[in-house]
Amino acid sequence: MIGGYEMVAGIEVHVQLATTTKMFCGCSTAFGRPPNTQVCPVCLGYPGVLPVVNRRATDLALRAALALECSVAATTKFDRKNYFYPDLPKSYQISQYDLPLATEGRLAIETGKGAKTIGIIRVHMEEDAGKLLHHGERDVSHVDMNRAGVPLIEIVGKPEIASPEEAHAYLTALKAVLRYAGISNCDMEKGELRCDLNVSVRLAGESRLGDRVEIKNLNSFRHAARALEYESRRQADLLASGGAIRQETRLFDPEKGTTEIMRVKEDAQDYRYFPEPDIPPLTFGADRIAEARRDLPELPQARMDRFMGAFGLARGDAAVLTADRPLADYYESCVKAGGDPRAAGKWIVNDVLRLTNERGELPEASKLTPEHLVELISLVGRGEITNTAAKEILGETLASGRRPSAIVDERGLRQVSDAGALEGVVRQVVDANPRAVADYRAGKSTAVTFFIGQVMRATKGKANPAMTTDLIRKMLDG
Ligand code: ZN
Ligand code: MN
Repeated sequence: MIGGYEMVAGIEVHVQLATTTKMFCGCSTAFGRPPNTQVCPVCLGYPGVLPVVNRRATDLALRAALALECSVAATTKFDRKNYFYPDLPKSYQISQYDLPLATEGRLAIETGKGAKTIGIIRVHMEEDAGKLLHHGERDVSHVDMNRAGVPLIEIVGKPEIASPEEAHAYLTALKAVLRYAGISNCDMEKGELRCDLNVSVRLAGESRLGDRVEIKNLNSFRHAARALEYESRRQADLLASGGAIRQETRLFDPEKGTTEIMRVKEDAQDYRYFPEPDIPPLTFGADRIAEARRDLPELPQARMDRFMGAFGLARGDAAVLTADRPLADYYESCVKAGGDPRAAGKWIVNDVLRLTNERGELPEASKLTPEHLVELISLVGRGEITNTAAKEILGETLASGRRPSAIVDERGLRQVSDAGALEGVVRQVVDANPRAVADYRAGKSTAVTFFIGQVMRATKGKANPAMTTDLIRKMLDG
């Protein structure tokens, strides 16, 4: 809250569907090819051509609608959204206006303050535009139409986001759902997920929404959160000083951390929407919807709840482990391979993710197999190696792919847990330090710490700490 004002934000997300061909023609959607090599008369908007709807794209869009718990429209149609821009060869985009694919859904998000549900207003299908490439110093621009006609869904969230943190959590949860269900890869570096924010502020307690500003084309979740932070503060300051909010579209400048005006907002009527005459309305029958529902995998939220219930994981750990499907699969493989569920979760969340991240790897693609991790966990569990040694071994297995037990043997890292062997060492240390023994008997309890240090030194850190402490006390008291 900024000077009595609170932020209200809604997020619109454009997501590229995971198809190999475009929405209305057979051109490839492959990323990064030479400009204008994946084009045809349909996606270049030549006169007289006819669009044909990509069946796979409608399957994925339907799957998204169901994954977001929307109601799917009995009949849905495409419309033309008319506007002029050099990256739009037809001068209209085929989109959906008044009969979108799906409405009234929801998405559960996890924030530091707990769980929350954000409503989804609608999910509709549309095609992407081309891409303008500006060559500043030569003062020329080129256009690449490879992206024109690539299938997208637009997911419009309700204005229920109350903080930058919630915006980040919403985008994270949405990406997880879309990736789990194979709807999109959501690779933001390839522009497969882009978001726009609608931001307004109002006095706390007010129920009416304030005038809103749109921030376009954010290509990172962090930028979205920073843009919200800046923009809500700008609006609150403006209102507090007696100003008014102009409905406009702004752009976020990540370098400066500020938003700048781009244009004054168009209304829907400026787009002169009308039904796309070349595509008949689509109907999803009950069978197709039921089939799509059956094909949905277990989604992240459900998996998180199951991980907490079945494996006793803490909420935070379960959230991290289920954020991405391959990571959740990796964790479950560790459990199936006999790893203690809680220990496996802790090791992955605390150490494996950090180390693989440092190496620029993903756990599931690293040399540390679930079997390796399980072996390491049981070595620690049986008291054969210390935690410190285990971390060292983890790094070594990640680098070489060698079995943890082989590394333990080779480096002589096995903990001394043999009471007889340990007793001998303790005896030596006690005999060699009569003054510390006298200190202890005089009531100086820190003498124990001194003896533990001596035993560790004598065993090169391999003494089982709990056993060592016990033995020392027994010997000193006896
Ligand atoms: Zn084409
Ligand atoms: Mn759109």
